[in-house]
Amino acid sequence: MPCSADSVSTSERYRFIIVGGGSAGCLLARLLAERGQGPIALLEAGGDGRDVRCVVPNFYPRTFGSCLDWNYRTTPQTGLLNRALPWPRGKVIGGSGAINALIYLQPAQADLQRWGFPTIDRVAEECSVGALSSANATAAPPSLPATDGRQCTFSQLPLEPVRQPHPWTQQFLDASKQLGCTQHNRWTQSTPNTSGIFTLTQAHGRRVHTGLQLLESAQETFAPEPQLYRSTQVQVERILLEAGRARGVEFVDRDARVHRIFAEQEVILCGGAIGSPMLLMQSGVGPEEQLREAGILCQQALPGVGKNLQDHLVYPIIFRTRESQGLPRRFSLAQRDAYRQRGDGPLASNIAEAGALLNVPEVAATQFQIHFTPSHYLKYPATPTENHFCSLAITDLHPASRGTIRPYRTANGAWLPRVDPNYLSSPQDVSHYMAILPWLTAAIASGPLNKVVQVEVLPGPRCTTARKLEKSLRMFAQTIFHPVGTCRFGNSDVDGVVDGEFRVHGISGLRIADASVLPDLPAANTNASALWVAWQCAERLRDR
Ligand SMILES: Cc1cc2nc3c(=O)[nH]c(=O)nc-3n(C[C@H](O)[C@H](O)[C@H](O)COP(=O)(O)OP(=O)(O)OC[C@H]3O[C@@H](n4cnc5c(N)ncnc54)[C@H](O)[C@@H]3O)c2cc1C
Repeated sequence: MPCSADSVSTSERYRFIIVGGGSAGCLLARLLAERGQGPIALLEAGGDGRDVRCVVPNFYPRTFGSCLDWNYRTTPQTGLLNRALPWPRGKVIGGSGAINALIYLQPAQADLQRWGFPTIDRVAEECSVGALSSANATAAPPSLPATDGRQCTFSQLPLEPVRQPHPWTQQFLDASKQLGCTQHNRWTQSTPNTSGIFTLTQAHGRRVHTGLQLLESAQETFAPEPQLYRSTQVQVERILLEAGRARGVEFVDRDARVHRIFAEQEVILCGGAIGSPMLLMQSGVGPEEQLREAGILCQQALPGVGKNLQDHLVYPIIFRTRESQGLPRRFSLAQRDAYRQRGDGPLASNIAEAGALLNVPEVAATQFQIHFTPSHYLKYPATPTENHFCSLAITDLHPASRGTIRPYRTANGAWLPRVDPNYLSSPQDVSHYMAILPWLTAAIASGPLNKVVQVEVLPGPRCTTARKLEKSLRMFAQTIFHPVGTCRFGNSDVDGVVDGEFRVHGISGLRIADASVLPDLPAANTNASALWVAWQCAERLRDR
């Protein structure tokens, strides 16, 4: 089989080696294989992910802390009253795209212009009708009929809006109109002052991610020659560098045996915003001082590696509702049947069902995103709470705080990342939240959501002063899982790690194509941006 499990062989030479089968890595592998640019070896640390939690939208938080998660945790964050936050990242084929909240929102045109990428319209033209229809045919689960005219991304992932939004979600959308947002029915691109039911990467209520697409690629997709070989549960430990060139990689299999494979053309890192800088630094590529501190011999000084870490932080405004009709934590037989037979009901809810993108005159320097959920943002589904809560989770989309990823060795010799996002270290970020929160809570209290909510629980009626509000922000803010920037592109090797062609500065035969190369955060959730990078990288490799 051209794409069977554990098919990477140490006796073969591969044209490309792709490290990391996540959102970007699987898309890149498939695009190269479809064009006959193999043989390609894809190495993924996690398993095949044939797990119900990677399929049913409502179950994604149940992957946290499981074997599908790298189980990272930040260092204690000074800006968050010394709290250390859990930082889920997908360790599975499909990567974080297999455990995320499924929301598909392309970056804003302004983001693409800042990054120097072509705009969405041009890429839409480049996606042929043939490619879209073949994606529809392969992406739908075999047991369910294909839906004609289903929307599809440039990455050929099928898209659907949340199938049966909760009734409170409509009240939120009405409220968003009062906040000045135009409601979009098929909401797929970040545009200021818009709102809508989120569009999800799914078909018939079942998650589809780039890993699943890859696993289900029919043999004939890659004909006439085998193009793609993959191994799962293998962790790449080191890039093999020789005279300034990446020759191959060294990896450890599930039985702790060490192997090496070699690339005829290039090694491409798709390990994500933590995995890619870690692998560079473990291989001796990074800031000299930090490598020395970690006891790693410097092969190539590259100061930007692991710096410039940015993430979207979220502060949830939580309301107790008048009625106990929020998302259930346990599902009735009827709800399970609804999901099994029609792919709808609360199991098909991705929990954060709708959102809004706000430009507020009071805080002109940034833009905010709201995620609305008919549940308690901090407790659902882990803690058994009664279902009488809803939440509006608010995010400053362009924070100024910057953090780092640094490697350290554990007592048993394994490399782990020290993840320090340095949240709210910039006073500007704090001031943005301090300005938007009173404005937003006042607007919500007098708007259409008033029919649903009874009383504000967070920040709550006792949060009467700016000092108390700031304390609440620092006490309850969470990650919304969007790290980027740790191998940012930039034309010089002073701050940039890769150039505009995604090539690592100072090393030939080595590229990076994942969320780590984005120089800053998009005004959107980050999965579409990671896919965008993979698509762009595939374009640059077209004639190689
Ligand atoms: C809980 C959660 C919810 C999210 N919700 C959304 C959402 O709703 N919408 C949205 O747009 N974005 C969301 N995101 C973010 C989005 O999923 C990521 O931005 C995107 O998946 C990043 O893609 P990537 O390819 O850069 O990294 P990943 O998808 O994380 O892929 C990296 C892959 O590399 C593998 N890997 C790493 N190191 C090694 C190594 N040394 N050897 C072998 N393999 C390795 C990993 O196991 C992983 O499979 C969410 C993320 C999380 C975690």
